Amino acid sequence: MFSIAMAASLLFTPADAHLAYETAKGIVDDCTPRDAGTYRTRRAARRIFDKASAAGIDAKMDTFEAITPIGPRRFVNVEGRYVSSHDNDWVVLVSHYDTKPGTDCPGANDGASTSGLLVALADALTTHRPKDINVLMIWTDGEECMERYGHNDGLWGSRHAAEKIKKEGLRVRAVVCLDMLGDADLGIVVPRNGTGWLAQLALDAGAAVRPGLVAAGHELVADDHLPFLEEGFDAIDLIDFQYGGGPGRNDYWHTAQDTMDKISEESLLLSGRMVAELLNRLAKRKP
Ligand SMILES: [Zn+2]
Repeated sequence: MFSIAMAASLLFTPADAHLAYETAKGIVDDCTPRDAGTYRTRRAARRIFDKASAAGIDAKMDTFEAITPIGPRRFVNVEGRYVSSHDNDWVVLVSHYDTKPGTDCPGANDGASTSGLLVALADALTTHRPKDINVLMIWTDGEECMERYGHNDGLWGSRHAAEKIKKEGLRVRAVVCLDMLGDADLGIVVPRNGTGWLAQLALDAGAAVRPGLVAAGHELVADDHLPFLEEGFDAIDLIDFQYGGGPGRNDYWHTAQDTMDKISEESLLLSGRMVAELLNRLAKRKP
């Protein structure tokens, strides 16, 4: 008889990948399009809130107003908190759920896939209850810009969240943004504009799941991690930015072709396992 003292670590299973897929499908079926500042994003937010709550996470809706190129609009982020101990540091996971304004893009991969993934991660967290880390999940509204990324166009939800977390004084170890990670033809990249040590940890976590799963990107990407970097947090984006019918094409991106048949449970399983592994490594990493 022997016992091994081991902190519970986070696992992400095929059942979790199924939950991620079904949640993404519900968002797409019921809330397409999801232009920021419309009743449809609020409807999607309500659906995400219900799913996150059902997963056993302490969820809430965070409604705020912001200026856009077409005047003030109302946005809504959804927040979910997994707390293992009030003494522990936080990891912030972010996924936007809105779709590109003025398009007929259903956003199956761009918005819904990682929003479903975050719900499934919430479920995995409450099931496995890792002890050494707290996790704040934020489903952001208004990631997509209306005309061109700028101070009053795009990244509204993440800017609001970054300022709020800074004000709240949460001890944040890392911010990880997830975008377009359900692509059936999966190739995850960590863009160059992110925090170095965190990017390396994501590369290692990806390699532990499948060699080459996450690659170092050479491009700069405008995504929800930017406002967190600007507020001084350590942050990265994890994104699959090759999304089309052939190599070098990106024709499913922001078009009517971004539909559920382009994403897969297998990819969501790989992405979910990679994020779980990254969280386990972040939990072990003492600041
Ligand atoms: Zn997009």
